[in-house]
Amino acid sequence: MNYQSIILPHIWNLKPYSSARDEFKGKEGIFLDANENPLGSPLSENWNRYPDPMQWEIKEELSDIKQIPADQIFIGNGSDEAIDLIIRMTCAGQANSIILCPPTYGMYEVSASINHVNILSVPLTKEYQLDVEQILSTVKEDTRIIFICSPNNPTGNKINRSDIYQIIEKFQQGFVIIDEAYIDFSDEPSFITELDKYPNVIVMQTLSKAYGLASLRLGMAFANPQIIQILNKIKPPYNIGGATQALVLEALRNRDFLINSIQQINHAKNTLISKLEAIPQVIRIFPSQANFILVKMEKAQELFDYLISQQVITRNRSNVTLCESSIRITVGLPEENHILIQKMQEFYS
Ligand SMILES: *Cc1c(COP(=O)(O)O)cnc(C)c1O
Repeated sequence: MNYQSIILPHIWNLKPYSSARDEFKGKEGIFLDANENPLGSPLSENWNRYPDPMQWEIKEELSDIKQIPADQIFIGNGSDEAIDLIIRMTCAGQANSIILCPPTYGMYEVSASINHVNILSVPLTKEYQLDVEQILSTVKEDTRIIFICSPNNPTGNKINRSDIYQIIEKFQQGFVIIDEAYIDFSDEPSFITELDKYPNVIVMQTLSKAYGLASLRLGMAFANPQIIQILNKIKPPYNIGGATQALVLEALRNRDFLINSIQQINHAKNTLISKLEAIPQVIRIFPSQANFILVKMEKAQELFDYLISQQVITRNRSNVTLCESSIRITVGLPEENHILIQKMQEFYS
């Protein structure tokens, strides 16, 4: 694949910032290169030294977990940073466009808008699947990215794999980004294993959901090493702080937590679904491959307001196209889900 025709010329030719820590790899030494404070930090631990700009220790660990070479992993300050960088390396403001399939994750649109990039919107079908024909006929010469989110947020369903293959095979003038933020809850295999076959695919995942590390801000992009190199070249040099790196490394070495969480959350989700089914005002519970459920119900807005007044916070999606009268509910602890159901019954009675 000829990436040079997809990547903007000024990015392709960019000479990246060379940071002090790029030049010397060792951990021992007298560091007089980066203008740090040699006395330490006013904390119980010292954070006075700049962190590894390439986050190699985390990448080694992720490489083992995800079964992919470390040079095919990019790490961002949340997935949001990866989304922004991918847009900026391919789209020159209004000279280029991206395709979104709403209802979907809001950051694609926000990030494209911040970068003044044209947004071509091809809504999902009523079954929340890709309208493949419409997507392909909407592609313009200047289109550089198609965003696919599977399992999709806020609808919770997985996108038909055969449809994704069609898009990947027919859209060769840019990247297909497959956002797999909820893949750990799903029975669908990741597209990570197919990257060798599809050089135009970038897979995104995050530690914010199943891994339980939302506050540390760590998102991942997996792709061909050439793409990863470009992302590394344009990211802020120290985009992942040292404290985050240390904590993430510790968390990734505790593999039981993830497996356990997925089991417990999926179990709690099934219980919650059966309780919701028993509420007559619930119109439809959409199938979920994630840790949330989209629920269509009577008086959604009023219910949402009532729940807030009871300090139960859900996500009102009733004003979103194709999500009319629907609320997105994150699966909580069993006792939290129980209170939610109680409050819903209270409201409707
Ligand atoms: C939550 C979520 C993310 C994660 O974003 P982070 O910046 O990594 O916290 C990415 N994509 C989707 C679709 C999400 O719902």
